[in-house]
Amino acid sequence: MKDFFTKKKKYATVPSAKARQDVPEGIVRKCPKCKKIMYVKELQKHLFVCQSCGYHYPIGAHDRAVMLFDQDSYVEFDKDMVSLNPLQFPNYMNKLESDRKKTKLNEAVWTGKGRIEGFECAVAIMDKGFRMGSMGSVVGEKITRMIEYADKNALPVLIFSASGGARMQEGVLSLMQMAKTSAALKAFSENAGLYISIMTHPTTGGVSASFASLGDYNFAEPGALIGFAGRRIIEQTIGEELPDDFQTAEFLLKHGQLDQVIPRSELRNVLRQVLSIHSEGGAEEWDRN
Ligand SMILES: [Zn+2]
Repeated sequence: MKDFFTKKKKYATVPSAKARQDVPEGIVRKCPKCKKIMYVKELQKHLFVCQSCGYHYPIGAHDRAVMLFDQDSYVEFDKDMVSLNPLQFPNYMNKLESDRKKTKLNEAVWTGKGRIEGFECAVAIMDKGFRMGSMGSVVGEKITRMIEYADKNALPVLIFSASGGARMQEGVLSLMQMAKTSAALKAFSENAGLYISIMTHPTTGGVSASFASLGDYNFAEPGALIGFAGRRIIEQTIGEELPDDFQTAEFLLKHGQLDQVIPRSELRNVLRQVLSIHSEGGAEEWDRN
């Protein structure tokens, strides 16, 4: 009799709606768009793109580097440069430390050089896993140094943006990075440097308003959110409802702000064409679709 009363009720074993949504990370992942569950190994094979609906999962800088460069052809710059806490912002250093462990990066951007389809390039890859990819002094400095290195060594520059904007914990020093990176790109451009910007989800705030939009070629990944201010702020300011696809890569392409939206699986191929056109004696055509 005792067992009867202590036994768990049958319906208690039915998982809650929340528990059903939570699938174990690491082995399988559920597509946020079409809800299909896929093995992480399978996703990895397809460059973290959902094979069912084409959703592009955001990826970290290290994964991106492995996908982008020719095998073992890349080196990292300024690996040990870390942020200080100029405003004595409470808890800032702890947050940086925990993001360092999480992303295996010293800051929200990886910079370095390597070969892409045989072409040597200087590259920056932002990681939204680190303080939402926000741009503080170190992000700005690393990107600027990478551009200056490319300038000196006549290399093309590629920047993969993924950012929530300026780093609020560094106040005005963050905003100054917009001017610094843009000035470095201007000097680079005057020396006939080639800069390819690839905007990934999300590219917003101060990053969208500085180096991300300054490419000789401005590309984006499918479905990426790209814009300066958030949708709600704009709607409130102009007193109008915005279209559903507002601030998506596809919307920007339609309105002439992007040159191409490139699925991850085709990126190396497009880069090869563009880098080839701009290389000495190169004549390959850009297969723009
Ligand atoms: Zn999907």
